[in-house]
Amino acid sequence: MPSSKRTQTAATAATGGASPEIRYNPAEIEPRWQERWAAQPDLYAAEPAGSGKPKYYVLEMLPYPSGELHMGHVRNYSIGDALARYMWMQGYNVLHPMGWDAFGLPAENAALKNNTPPRAWTTSNIAAMKRQMNRVGFSYDWSNEIATCLPDYYRWNQWFFIRMFERGLAYRKKSKVNWCPQCATVLANEQVIDGRCWRHEDTIVEQRDLEQWFLRITDYAQELLDDLDKLKDWPEKVRTMQRNWIGRSEGAEVSFAVEDASHAPEDEVRHKGTAVLPALEDARTTGGKITVFTTRIDTIYGATSIILAPEHPHVKEFAANNERLADDVADLLNQQKQARESGDIGEIEKHGVFTGHYAINPFNGERLPIWVANYILAEYGTGAIMSVPAHDDRDYDFAEKYGLEMRIVILPRRTDDGNGNSEPESMLPYTDEDSLLINSGEFNALGNREAQQKMAAFAEEKGFGKPTVTFRLKDWGVSRQRYWGTPIPMLYCEKDGIVPVPDDQLPVLLPDNVEITQQGGSPLSKVPEFVHATCPKCGGPARRETDTMDTFVDSSWYFYRYTSAKYDKGPFDPAAAQYWFPIDQYIGGVEHAILHLIYSRFWTKVMRDLGLIKNAEPVERLFTQGMVIKNGAKMSKSKGNVVSPDDMIARYGADATRMYSLFAAPPDRDLDWQEDGVAGVSRFLAKVYRFVMKHADKARSSSATAPEVSDPTSQALLRKLHQTIAKIALDFQGRWHFNTCIAAIMELVNTFTTPAADEEIISGKVPPATMKALLVNLVLLLAPFAPYLAFELWDQLGQKQDILRAPWPKSDEALAREDEIEIPVQVNGKLRAVVKVPAGADPDMLREAIKTDPKVQAATTDKEIVKVIVVPGKLVNIVVKG
Ligand SMILES: [Zn+2]
Ligand SMILES: [Zn+2]
Repeated sequence: MPSSKRTQTAATAATGGASPEIRYNPAEIEPRWQERWAAQPDLYAAEPAGSGKPKYYVLEMLPYPSGELHMGHVRNYSIGDALARYMWMQGYNVLHPMGWDAFGLPAENAALKNNTPPRAWTTSNIAAMKRQMNRVGFSYDWSNEIATCLPDYYRWNQWFFIRMFERGLAYRKKSKVNWCPQCATVLANEQVIDGRCWRHEDTIVEQRDLEQWFLRITDYAQELLDDLDKLKDWPEKVRTMQRNWIGRSEGAEVSFAVEDASHAPEDEVRHKGTAVLPALEDARTTGGKITVFTTRIDTIYGATSIILAPEHPHVKEFAANNERLADDVADLLNQQKQARESGDIGEIEKHGVFTGHYAINPFNGERLPIWVANYILAEYGTGAIMSVPAHDDRDYDFAEKYGLEMRIVILPRRTDDGNGNSEPESMLPYTDEDSLLINSGEFNALGNREAQQKMAAFAEEKGFGKPTVTFRLKDWGVSRQRYWGTPIPMLYCEKDGIVPVPDDQLPVLLPDNVEITQQGGSPLSKVPEFVHATCPKCGGPARRETDTMDTFVDSSWYFYRYTSAKYDKGPFDPAAAQYWFPIDQYIGGVEHAILHLIYSRFWTKVMRDLGLIKNAEPVERLFTQGMVIKNGAKMSKSKGNVVSPDDMIARYGADATRMYSLFAAPPDRDLDWQEDGVAGVSRFLAKVYRFVMKHADKARSSSATAPEVSDPTSQALLRKLHQTIAKIALDFQGRWHFNTCIAAIMELVNTFTTPAADEEIISGKVPPATMKALLVNLVLLLAPFAPYLAFELWDQLGQKQDILRAPWPKSDEALAREDEIEIPVQVNGKLRAVVKVPAGADPDMLREAIKTDPKVQAATTDKEIVKVIVVPGKLVNIVVKG
């Protein structure tokens, strides 16, 4: 349409002949700045401890070098990057490092598939991802980069391992372990999710008996639990997951003497059900004791049997001369194994068998039949329980199935049906813990909880029990039968047994050129020159440990190394760690709530006990970002819904891609990737670019340091600017609602670019000093989110100082304040007060404002407010009664 074209030409003329074609071209701007940043290695480098500035350590979880960034990475790192840039602009000394969790199975799988050595594969992947990170423009301090597969890193894994061995925190034992046939290696308990491998969702984890190295994390169970209370700035869900994983339960252990079977009276054969009694005269004499763990010792007078796990040592003895029992136990064990492997051991259909043996309840001398059942797990508590069917759900089901006796020893409370009639709560089992004991000898009439204390103390006094605490957390199995990991620095000598490699022989180098197969144990065991070693104690021949460490060892302490990545006298420079720790803000996925985030807390406590650090926790604040999904599902190759960051950057630029990942959803929620949205952000950035470029000469022409507020347009635009600054400050302090920050900046730009504002600006009514304040502050606000554009426009505005160190804008309250207007307030039509409110206050704000006015309060005391009629900007009328 010709008319609009004419207007545009006129406008162009008025701005002094700037080209009408101001075009935002990230493909030109971004690589240019990337080059400039690369030429300034100090730009993002942390300053030394003595810089005098307050420190801020912001960290995103280090990636596995798979070879390409995915959108989940881009989102995670964009959150950290925005925060790092914001903190620099707040005047902090910021440490914002990056590195590579570079050991692990995928490198071996790739080696098998493509015949590429793991080291070469990993190194080229790191280079590719680093290139991508730099292209997105993340502000990493590469001077402290680490890669866990390098000897200068993993030697310290070995050093830590030996320190732990010396303190009894690393030990070797044969035990049942989780085995993933796909990984062809052992997994830690934390790596088994619903009976399946954490890396192979479809692979059922098997149980194998193997000699393994363990780290004694259980020594720290109580402290790991207690200190969760101090982590106030961690998401509650993560703390809850850790609490449950640690799984502390208070209770008591009680020992039941096993009756010598040769003296058992024959008429005790009275148990029904499918259980079959062996002939008693054939049973071996056993004796001994069975210790049970119970959280409800207060119900011990209601115990009517003892039930053992199929793998309990006593069961082995009982079954030794009893083939039928041995067969039945084998069936139970099988059922348990299957339920475990399908991940629903909690819902197992309960089966059991009577062993033909009895134990004596030490509290009342009663004989209790000993059963074996598939729902009792050897690794929980002591692998033996006392069964109290009247007061425990599982025992109730089992007793009902096999017709076992039930005895009520806790008085079921009566409940009111709501009509004043109280009915006995007849349903068993009765499992509440706030009633009184009955049928319990000298403990009758005690409250449950009091009884729990007294009965545990009684057992201890009499020598057949004691109060105890148990944890669900087990020691961390760290041996892996794989190649691409840290060699465990241990030697086996025929004369001296297990001997650690001396410190001065570290690192034990991982040999290259090792043939990788997925069968037949550790690949390193097939490398004779690795296996054969000399015993440092006797000088004789020794065999080297050929398992490698779980890669979660690498990530348990990596963030300390970032503080001094080139330090070679220890895992890190203690002074640097003391300055930077704890991490002020850690950002990563919630999927690490158990594995990495428990291991690294444990490692920190061990390092504290070694005297290396003073902090007891590594991370002050934790943030877990949501997932990036597309079409309702997590992005994955198998679903074909992966969006490549490279593609997005090629089409819309890095700024638009990263800004969209912050804008499209609050950072803690899942983000549903919509390409339209990226295009929208890109259009917004283009609008900012055009606006700033169009008026940059005005800003450059002004040497003023403060805006002029002489005209109403300046006043309105500055008001909006300072309101936006205030709003963003709030969003950064709280849970980083970057999405609302960015929305506020968009609104601000809309205000700046209305036709009316445009006309005022073009006509020169807005003074250059004001224009400078508007443009400079707008660019500063964009800097954490769209750094390329911010650096470019900062330059265009003629600013000499580095924008990364430019002070973050402060909201000027006077400029931000809305004009106030006076609103008359009537009560039943009579003028009672005049209240001052900001111009443009909405009805809700008006209602709030008049509520607190003393005159309005006086006029409405003791009266019922029937209605409040608001005429916005004009009048409020309150209708009262009485
Ligand atoms: Zn696996
Ligand atoms: Zn020796």
